[in-house]
Amino acid sequence: MTEHIDLLVRGGDVLTVDDAGTVVRGGAVGVRDGVIVAVGPAEELRARYTADQDIDAEGCLVLPGFVNAHTHLAMTLLRGRADDVTLQGFLERVLTWEAELLSPKNVAAAVRVAIAEGVRAGVTSALDMYWFHGAAEQAAREAGWRLHTGPTFMDVPGPADGIAYEDRLGWARQDLAARAGARPGTRPVLFAHSTYTLAPDQLTEIAALAREFGALLHLHAAENATEVATVEVRHGKRPVELLDSLGLLGPDLLLAHAVDLTGPEIAALARTGTAVAHCPVSNLKLGCGIAPVPRLLSAGVTVGLGTDGAVSSNTLDMLGAVRQAALVHKAAGDPTAVGAEQAVRMATIEGARALGLGDHLGSLEAGKRADLIVLDLNAPHLRPLHDPWSTLAYAAHSADVRDTVVDGRVLMRERALTTLDEPTVLADLEALVRGTRPEHSSAALV
Ligand SMILES: [Zn+2]
Repeated sequence: MTEHIDLLVRGGDVLTVDDAGTVVRGGAVGVRDGVIVAVGPAEELRARYTADQDIDAEGCLVLPGFVNAHTHLAMTLLRGRADDVTLQGFLERVLTWEAELLSPKNVAAAVRVAIAEGVRAGVTSALDMYWFHGAAEQAAREAGWRLHTGPTFMDVPGPADGIAYEDRLGWARQDLAARAGARPGTRPVLFAHSTYTLAPDQLTEIAALAREFGALLHLHAAENATEVATVEVRHGKRPVELLDSLGLLGPDLLLAHAVDLTGPEIAALARTGTAVAHCPVSNLKLGCGIAPVPRLLSAGVTVGLGTDGAVSSNTLDMLGAVRQAALVHKAAGDPTAVGAEQAVRMATIEGARALGLGDHLGSLEAGKRADLIVLDLNAPHLRPLHDPWSTLAYAAHSADVRDTVVDGRVLMRERALTTLDEPTVLADLEALVRGTRPEHSSAALV
């Protein structure tokens, strides 16, 4: 008697990304009700299970889907409109455009493009900080994609969603209260933009709300020296020092970037269990510097990997971020800094841990949600396969991802999206961009 399951991904090498780094040659993954029920040799699982659907992964690599630990998905709308500028110049431009362009409808259209791009790149979930998160959530739900999002706080004049700061706490509370029994494999999230767009008392009240609901709190911190200097002039403390003095560091806080850190700040992150989302492509492009990831890792800080939005990194390509993470830290002269396996772990299990979801996502182990990808090795640049970590970090491209599964549902099969009508998704965004493009040329704005 065989047991009935929904999906069997069989053949190929399964890179489980468990703690031991187990690779099952000629392996298989069995899935029922969105959960991984077994990982093991393909022959064994085929004898044990009858599946409604299967994916033949012979000649492929099967691995956990990538967890994008920091992004702004709807910024696909502005891709290519603020290149080669400083972070501060970038923010000035983007905030103005956002105020003009954003609406729930436009955010949903831009997020659908981001999800299509993400599914193609093997990204199975993302932590998405942006205006109109409800519209993004709706788009993700319709596409079957896993989105970690929630209300964002940023005390700027004329916020894009029109909700003034003083009304945001009540609005966020209602949002969190409505999330009881949310989709498995995600958790409530609050976003506090940064220590330079929110005052210390605002940060404290947002964090208190997050704690009340067991939510993850996510903010940008120490992205570059100018930000650090601004916060220091204003509050007499650097961003991480300020967060520490307010008692906000801890395992439910995730910092994006963390580029400009002192030794004592790294020690404080390690001591409090505060995690970091490393965004090497965005940091390089905005000239922010190189985050001290080798020092964070040796101090024991959990480091996930993010692309940041498509304005500052231009793509949501997590394998591209993996490669940058595995290369950029070697520039100081140490080729052992951030190895291939470490970089791939940051994009998978460590990203899941950074979000506080390490028990549910990030590796292929029985009991975890079935978020997995199949990467086609039938290409000259991927042969021979001596070491899957090396192949992924130094040779593979996102276009090598052939199949993407989220929560046991196949969202891309043989490179065809199954839940999004890609031509329509792209046409909708093009129409929207044409309709909102200012009279004067975009070149004049940049
Ligand atoms: Zn960001």
